[in-house]
Amino acid sequence: MTKINRQKIYKHMSYTIKELSETLNISEKTALRWIDNGLKIIPGGKNPILISGSDLKEFLINKDSKKKLKLKRSEYYCLSCKGPRRAKQGSIKKLKNKKNGLCHVCGSKISRIFKPYQKDYKIPPSPA
Ligand SMILES: [Zn+2]
Repeated sequence: MTKINRQKIYKHMSYTIKELSETLNISEKTALRWIDNGLKIIPGGKNPILISGSDLKEFLINKDSKKKLKLKRSEYYCLSCKGPRRAKQGSIKKLKNKKNGLCHVCGSKISRIFKPYQKDYKIPPSPA
């Protein structure tokens, strides 16, 4: 994926989908998907759709920070704390492909879905 250069966006400007795709070198489809994903459009005329530079910057910053969030094996995403948290000791309940627990900071319910294992990997027997 191409890296998006936020510096190219001017806060005081507004952009149409076409301008947006040209400025950031993304497809118009991507720009429309961003709107679906919460990018604000300037209320009023729907044709053409206009997006303010400041909203766009904000959206891209949030988008990036979400991407950076990587949970460690023992971490869960807490919706109340809005961050990675460990579960309280003894609070974890294992389900089929999910673990539920309680946030060790605020006590809210946290859960994490695990992808099912691809295959049971068995160590080949070593030659005797
Ligand atoms: Zn929490």
